[in-house]
Amino acid sequence: MSPIWHPSPNFGPRRDGLRPELVVLHYTAMDSAEAALARLCDPSVEVSAHYLIGADGTVWQMVDETARAWHAGAGEWRGQGDVNSRSIGIELDNRGDHPFSEPQMSALENLLPGILARWHIPATGVIGHSDMAPGRKRDPGPHFDWLRLERAQLARHRGAGHGSQDAPPDVFRALAQNLGYSADVDDQTLLSAVRLRFRPWATGPLSARDFAPLTHPALWT
Ligand SMILES: [Zn+2]
Repeated sequence: MSPIWHPSPNFGPRRDGLRPELVVLHYTAMDSAEAALARLCDPSVEVSAHYLIGADGTVWQMVDETARAWHAGAGEWRGQGDVNSRSIGIELDNRGDHPFSEPQMSALENLLPGILARWHIPATGVIGHSDMAPGRKRDPGPHFDWLRLERAQLARHRGAGHGSQDAPPDVFRALAQNLGYSADVDDQTLLSAVRLRFRPWATGPLSARDFAPLTHPALWT
């Protein structure tokens, strides 16, 4: 089913001839898709995204993929800023404190392949807002099912290697940077961001299990 076109005035041209090389996933942190849609199309708020997926699986498109939507804000990935110029933004109707619904995840799985194909974006280019804005953003949050996207070849497969029990934080940082976590943040903020993606319910100090997802995956996509 094609998305429902619901245009937002909140967009501009991509800068410096940049093209989408990332897809950034968000949650709306609002009570309903309709409320989020109104906000994402309100010129006074100056935020938007290319797509919004409702909890019932309805997909709205607000900004043409060729244009620069305003969803990412400050942050960077793989050492590069202006993520808005480099990405497609997808908002998921979710308050942030509960699981994402099956129809919504199905709709996301149906929407992503076309985007990745149109812009030649590899699965490794699908990231969360929290990945590119560590310490500032937590969405799509601990309830988002990244493993499901990985199994569908729609996100980078986590590694299954073994970290050394006493591996130091600078090794962890180097591995994380290698994946794309390039923002200049302290060790704890970096650990929190990486855990949000791979081990959202983990607590305590850096452990060997935090290293495993960052190692080379069995299947690289
Ligand atoms: Zn966000």
